Amino acid sequence: MSQSEVREEHPIAEPFPIAPGVYAMRGTRGANVGAVVTDEGIILIDTPLIPQEAWKWRDFLQEVSGGKPFLYIINTDHHRGHIVGNMWFDCPVIAHHIAWRYMRGYRDNFKQRVRQLFKKQPEIQAHLQDIRIILPEITFQEKFAVFKGGRQVRVIHVGGHTPATSIVYVPDAKVVFAGDLISLGEHPFMTQATSKAWLDGLTLIRRLHPEVVVPGHGDVGGPEITEPISKYLRYIRSHVRSHLKAGHSKVDTANALAPELLPWFGIPKYRRPKITQQIKQGIGKVYVELEQEMRQKGELPPREEKSASKEEK
Ligand SMILES: [Zn+2]
Repeated sequence: MSQSEVREEHPIAEPFPIAPGVYAMRGTRGANVGAVVTDEGIILIDTPLIPQEAWKWRDFLQEVSGGKPFLYIINTDHHRGHIVGNMWFDCPVIAHHIAWRYMRGYRDNFKQRVRQLFKKQPEIQAHLQDIRIILPEITFQEKFAVFKGGRQVRVIHVGGHTPATSIVYVPDAKVVFAGDLISLGEHPFMTQATSKAWLDGLTLIRRLHPEVVVPGHGDVGGPEITEPISKYLRYIRSHVRSHLKAGHSKVDTANALAPELLPWFGIPKYRRPKITQQIKQGIGKVYVELEQEMRQKGELPPREEKSASKEEK
């Protein structure tokens, strides 16, 4: 879909309720966002990338909560689609300590790339001239819970999509915000991925028995929306494993598997070259991860000189 098509179809995202006092909004360019309204105030899960959507979200939540304050923002990872909108909400940010480490390094080139996304939408770009990166004030390593206004919001580090990726669980509403562990209808972004942790994270979501699962991208659903990405990751792992056993290099493995994976999701023709590159990167990540895993288990012989020529390829 081109940017103008996105604009025509979704002039601006619409907030909607997903459970009592829990809301979501589907990001048109950034990630989906969520909010839990408590008697004491509002806890936000990620923030909209597009300023107009952030303001709409802010106004909507003010209205449905009867003007309650924003208490915290929980960022599920450090990618721009989740964190740039932090600047439009006046409250502390909470994120995994690795997310903080990445965000701390965001400089002018990061901000420039964000502006570039909207080069054909000057009405959006105009509001991104002065991007302020609001760093997490509170970080965590494994998990924590926030108790506010009679509700509990649990945050659990899972990794997988990035080393920082965390999910948010609202037990009284049986809602899980999955962050980018789930991106429906598109190839997952795996540049910083660990497939084993990713699969474990998806299993954890199913074990929480949520009624509603909010993906990082795509439509809200139930626990079944964890399945396509589980299947995708298991497919990559089992095929990369076979290629490793056969002694194929990382590049050969990526070249062999990428064409098989490309048709898994409907992709417009003009995006195929870029997505193919993205898929190959993902396969490469899994290759390195599995190679290590298999060596540790003795399924592959220890590293020898042969690996040097592999890297040159
Ligand atoms: Zn992400």
